[in-house]
Amino acid sequence: MSLAEAEKTDEARVVELIDELLSKHDPKSTDPVEFLGAQFDLGLAWVHFPEGHGGLGASPKLQKIINERLAAAGAPAAYYRNPIGHGMSAPTIVVHGSEEQKKRYLRPLFTGEEIWCQLFSEPGAGSDVAGLSSRAVKDGDEWIINGQKVWTTLAHVSRYGTLVVRTDPEQPKHKGLTHFVVDMHAPGVEVRPLRQMTGDAEFNEVYFTDVRIPDSERLDAVGEGWRVALTTLMNERVSIGGSIPPKGSGPISEAVKLWKSKGLTDKARKDKLMKLWSDAEVNRLTNIRAGVARRVGTPGPEGSVGKLAFAETNKAIYEYVMELLGADGMLYGDYNMDRSANAMESRTVQQAFLRSRANSIEGGTSEVMRNILGERVLGVPGDIRVDKDLPWSKVPRS
Ligand SMILES: Cc1cc2nc3c(=O)[nH]c(=O)nc-3n(C[C@H](O)[C@H](O)[C@H](O)COP(=O)(O)OP(=O)(O)OC[C@H]3O[C@@H](n4cnc5c(N)ncnc54)[C@H](O)[C@@H]3O)c2cc1C
Repeated sequence: MSLAEAEKTDEARVVELIDELLSKHDPKSTDPVEFLGAQFDLGLAWVHFPEGHGGLGASPKLQKIINERLAAAGAPAAYYRNPIGHGMSAPTIVVHGSEEQKKRYLRPLFTGEEIWCQLFSEPGAGSDVAGLSSRAVKDGDEWIINGQKVWTTLAHVSRYGTLVVRTDPEQPKHKGLTHFVVDMHAPGVEVRPLRQMTGDAEFNEVYFTDVRIPDSERLDAVGEGWRVALTTLMNERVSIGGSIPPKGSGPISEAVKLWKSKGLTDKARKDKLMKLWSDAEVNRLTNIRAGVARRVGTPGPEGSVGKLAFAETNKAIYEYVMELLGADGMLYGDYNMDRSANAMESRTVQQAFLRSRANSIEGGTSEVMRNILGERVLGVPGDIRVDKDLPWSKVPRS
């Protein structure tokens, strides 16, 4: 059977399974956990994952059909219940986890019964995350973890996290890392809120003091932590920047709505609105094209292009919205700290404007996205990396 024929057969099967899901579990009256559990069991959670682990081993592009049908039927969206888990932890576990880990973690992650976080960034290692300092030392069948992570989104509601730490300081920085699943309720894990300029504290500092992780909770081999981290990072970029909302929806709809409600007619601001609308549409179409071209599970560097375009366009749209709002842009409501159980959701356009400033930092900064785009897509000469081959312990750091 040719690839195209196989895809047609898979598509027909997916459509049948969606019909089955919706006929047996009315999304309007079924409890969301039950509905998402049934979706997982039918292989419609991540369609490219293996059968038995929430997928059908089919092309990832079929997921669009599932998501659109289920959204139109008013079904709960797994992503919003567990954004880090859904977009980053699950694709990492399915590639690098053991069979036991996949069986144990993927279903409750998808249903949102267990929330996940991603423990990569440290005070001295963000863009250069491979330079991180948190340590794991082997002790029998366990590892003892000490160190600090930062900007950990939703750590305060998380049951588990994917954690990358240094296991061999004498190796160059990319080679001495190992990845684990960490129980966020384990003794020695301390989560402290970090308040953002929106007033919310959707992210945190996380301290590890002699935290014990069984060796069975390692993801992939010792020393392969960077390879595992790359799987997470590639998926993170698509998760943040690769969404395909309906035409004219999302942030640009806020700008258009405001333009209309204010009855504005001046040509300069209309011209700017048209440019932003075109940028948003080009970004949407580019994401559709990347989705259709994707034949395997883990996205490539094209995810960085989408992430860069999303971040810059989103920021520009909300700046424009503020310009239209004028003095009303300063009306913010209260500034009480909200220990939000959601990330990236805003109650007002003023809040969305402030939150959008993080878009060009989270999931890799726009400068770093441009480096990836230049080096890995356009093939321009690489950044100068003087510490690449030095043992991590010999790299000067403050
Ligand atoms: C809202 C939010 C949520 C986040 N959630 C998480 C999370 O859940 N888990 C997690 O692990 N992390 C999370 N992060 C952290 C995020 O991944 C880092 O902030 C990001 O990678 C940048 O690292 P940094 O803040 O240390 O900045 P730095 O790396 O110190 O960068 C500072 C500046 O230098 C520039 N720069 C750095 N290196 C280069 C280079 N080689 N070339 C050109 N310019 C460069 C950067 O672009 C930036 O402008 C989150 C961040 C935000 C804002």
